[in-house]
Amino acid sequence: MKKFMLFAGLIFVFMAAGSLAIGEEAPRHPGLTKIAEGIYSYLDEKNPAPSSSFGANAGIIIGKEGIVVVDTLISSKEAQRFINEIKAISDKPIRYVVNTHEHLDHSLGNSDFIRLGAVVVSHANCKKNAEAAASTILQKAKNYGLTDELLQGTKVATASLTFNNRMEIDLGDRKVELIYTGASHTDGSILVYVPDARVIFAGDILFTDVHPYMGDGEIKGWTNVLDNISAMDIVSIVPGHGPLSTKKDLQEMRQYLLTFERIGRELSAQGKDSNYIAAEIIKAAPKRQFFEVFVAGNVAALYPQAPKQ
Ligand SMILES: [Zn+2]
Repeated sequence: MKKFMLFAGLIFVFMAAGSLAIGEEAPRHPGLTKIAEGIYSYLDEKNPAPSSSFGANAGIIIGKEGIVVVDTLISSKEAQRFINEIKAISDKPIRYVVNTHEHLDHSLGNSDFIRLGAVVVSHANCKKNAEAAASTILQKAKNYGLTDELLQGTKVATASLTFNNRMEIDLGDRKVELIYTGASHTDGSILVYVPDARVIFAGDILFTDVHPYMGDGEIKGWTNVLDNISAMDIVSIVPGHGPLSTKKDLQEMRQYLLTFERIGRELSAQGKDSNYIAAEIIKAAPKRQFFEVFVAGNVAALYPQAPKQ
């Protein structure tokens, strides 16, 4: 029932926002965008439909020895579109795929990259969570409106290389640092940092202009990570969803989470229901363009004592 309500809510939001209704043809993807020498983001902030990976961002880092891909989108079709664009700008081998975390819109394209010889890397908890969800994740994608056709060829694949705290990938002329965040957006989330270009891929630690999905979230750890990124030497941040970002967006995200926590805790203690609490959070938190529908679900996940309507 809960899933159905979420699904129905998503359709409503897409139609109400004048955005894509599920099943409509997606507009042309803006494609790979150069953000630094040899670093491209794959942003799609204008199209948050489930079939377009909920507008999830991915990216690539090109070095002398090959390419590191950050996240693989929601389906084989999405991954193939991404792969074709990578091949159009570089003939170097895709050595590694890094999953910033296990959520379906960031990882269901893994197997298409493995077929090309890439090694999938993630945090150990990300792999553990992905394995636990492996038998149900394609059905979950269908519950969000992805058809069999959209999911054609999609096979669940988890990392073959994991780490716990930090890992470094050496591409010959540049290094890519993978940094565990601790429990935050998920308990297996990582940051992908390219120090020579001062660029960071934040995964879903950062949602810019999009209400975050917080169903697996831990707010204290999450705000700590945002503070840690703010203290780093960076000029560009690729968020998990939304446009290319800066440190100002980290502060807004932090404010959003703290507002969510303050109102959520206070009103759930008063016995208010999750829809009421969500409406109050939306009024008070920094404005977001997409995914209001997630807020009530986030409240229900983080404050299970709040009665559901
Ligand atoms: Zn996520």
